[in-house]
Amino acid sequence: MGCKYSVVVPAFNEEEVIEMSYERLSDVMKEIGDYEIIFINDGSRDNTFNILKSIAKEDKAVKVLSFSRNFGHQEAVSAGLEYASGDAVIIIDADLQDPPEAIPHMIKMWQKGTDIVYGKREKRKGETFLKKFTAWGFYRFLNALGAQKIPRDTGDFRLIDRKVVNQLKNMPEKNRFLRGMSAWTGFSQEPYIYVRDERAAGKTKYNLKKMAKLAGDGITSFSNRPLKIPIVTGCIMMPLSLAYLIVSIVLNAVNIWDSMHIIFSVLFLMVSLIFIFLGIMGIYIGRIFDEVKGRPTYIIDELINI
Ligand code: UDP
Ligand code: MG
Repeated sequence: MGCKYSVVVPAFNEEEVIEMSYERLSDVMKEIGDYEIIFINDGSRDNTFNILKSIAKEDKAVKVLSFSRNFGHQEAVSAGLEYASGDAVIIIDADLQDPPEAIPHMIKMWQKGTDIVYGKREKRKGETFLKKFTAWGFYRFLNALGAQKIPRDTGDFRLIDRKVVNQLKNMPEKNRFLRGMSAWTGFSQEPYIYVRDERAAGKTKYNLKKMAKLAGDGITSFSNRPLKIPIVTGCIMMPLSLAYLIVSIVLNAVNIWDSMHIIFSVLFLMVSLIFIFLGIMGIYIGRIFDEVKGRPTYIIDELINI
């Protein structure tokens, strides 16, 4: 039997906050009624899983999926969506940066007929300038490239209707950028504006590498435009280079300049351009490779209360 609301909470090494997070979430959800909270232990190497096990022993509304290793945030959320049975599913971080108290407001908006209520960050407390700046730049770059509009300054904190969940479950891509994928479905969406708190405890689990991967997934899974950069650049440079060549030959013939230096600098410039273009293609080929392998997005080692 499905229940009305599912809360999906990915957790990677969150031993310091997971208990607090569970308490605040269930306090909010108890007021609302029929719910389940699905924690995904994304291969934590600390005590997170043990804490989750003992919580789930006491509280049958808590379900736990435990991965065999760390697969990543988007993968963990995807697993939660796979197992969620609610008519509406709420995705929220384990570190209490997204306030659980916002959930009742999101539910009200959903009841009025909005399919995707996404949390939009008005302020970000306790985040570095670099993080805010890169996030700001990323969303603007993405929207400049993208065919589909992805709301700016949003994370994965959101409430989505069952029909959106079903569509997301039908998307087999391995490199998952869920906030873009849910915008892509085209169902009605509206922002819920909130102030993003500081982490309740612990440190960010998104290191630079994971952030770069997420950004890469966001761009490559929503836009083919980078692949067109080489052909556009080539078409512009070709006639210019030809003209330049003719001029050089003529000037050299009449012995006016020594073109050695120019030739070398142009050569280096061309080689680096070619490398960049090859790199762009390489990135897309890598993504194709990930997809054609057809491996599962994650591996679940243990299920509790499911
Ligand atoms: N997370 C995860 N797997 C990872 C990295 C992060 O499940 O590989 C979870 C993490 O436990 C948290 C959420 O994803 O619940 C967001 O991570 P974090 O708070 O570290 O990111 P930030 O808020 O700093 O962007
Ligand atoms: Mg966080």
